[in-house]
Parts: sequence; C-alpha cells; structure tokens
Amino acid sequence: MTPDDDKLLRRAIALAGEARAGGNPPFGSLLAGPDGTVLAEERNSSLTDRDITAHPELKLARWAGRELDPATAAATTMYTSCQPCGMCAGAIARSGLGRVVYALSGEQLDGLKPPGTAFTDPPSEGPALYTEARVPVEGYYR
Ligand SMILES: [Zn+2]
Repeated sequence: MTPDDDKLLRRAIALAGEARAGGNPPFGSLLAGPDGTVLAEERNSSLTDRDITAHPELKLARWAGRELDPATAAATTMYTSCQPCGMCAGAIARSGLGRVVYALSGEQLDGLKPPGTAFTDPPSEGPALYTEARVPVEGYYR
C-alpha cells in the first residue's frame, strides 16, 4: 500500500458514504490507471435500482470489460470500500483488471452485521447429463 493507494481507497470509502446517503447499501469503488488517474467511479445502487447485481465492483468490472483494451485493463487498479463479494470477484477476474485494493475485508464486514444475516448458497446438484451437456460446448474452446 502506497500513500496514493490510501488516497484512492479513501475516495472509495467516501463513495460508500454517498451510496448510503442515497438510500443504498454502503459500498463504493473506483478504477484508477497506473498514474493514479481516476477512470470511473461507482456506488452501490441495488435498492434504488431494485437490482441485486448493482454492486459498484460489478458495474466497474463490466465497464472495464467494455471500455478498456486488455493491456490498459491489466494496468488498472480497482479501489473498493469492501472486499468484493463472490459475484463481483468472478466479474473482476473476467474483466482483466490487474489489481484490487480494498478497505474492509469480508470478515470485517460480517462482524459489522447482525448475526444470521450472511448470504448462503442454496443446495445445488450436479454434475448431470454429461453426454448431452457436452455437445454444445465441445470444440468451442480452442
Ligand atoms: Zn459484490
């Protein structure tokens, strides 16, 4: 962590405060280039948008995948007020972003929530129907 990292992380925390003031969960994120230039900022808007995927990290990962070439994405850092959740971490991995710097860890966040409010995965079953399911996939990845 550098002094510039601290400055940009404090901006992400301020965005989290803005999200909360706007009636949403308190999370904010931004993307910065290698020289510290802010490329994009986002706030959580999952309540006002009625969209469970409206996390700032996911919105920025989608933006990066759409707007940045692979070399620029790899040189870009996401600063975020909290460690990305599983949904956002998957999108960040696919976006090609080179680095993530976060303030609160997921564990620290859970410590700030009432007990029993953590998200849980539903029961899932599989793999199944391999012979049929492989047909549309086979040969796609080269
Ligand atoms: Zn998330």
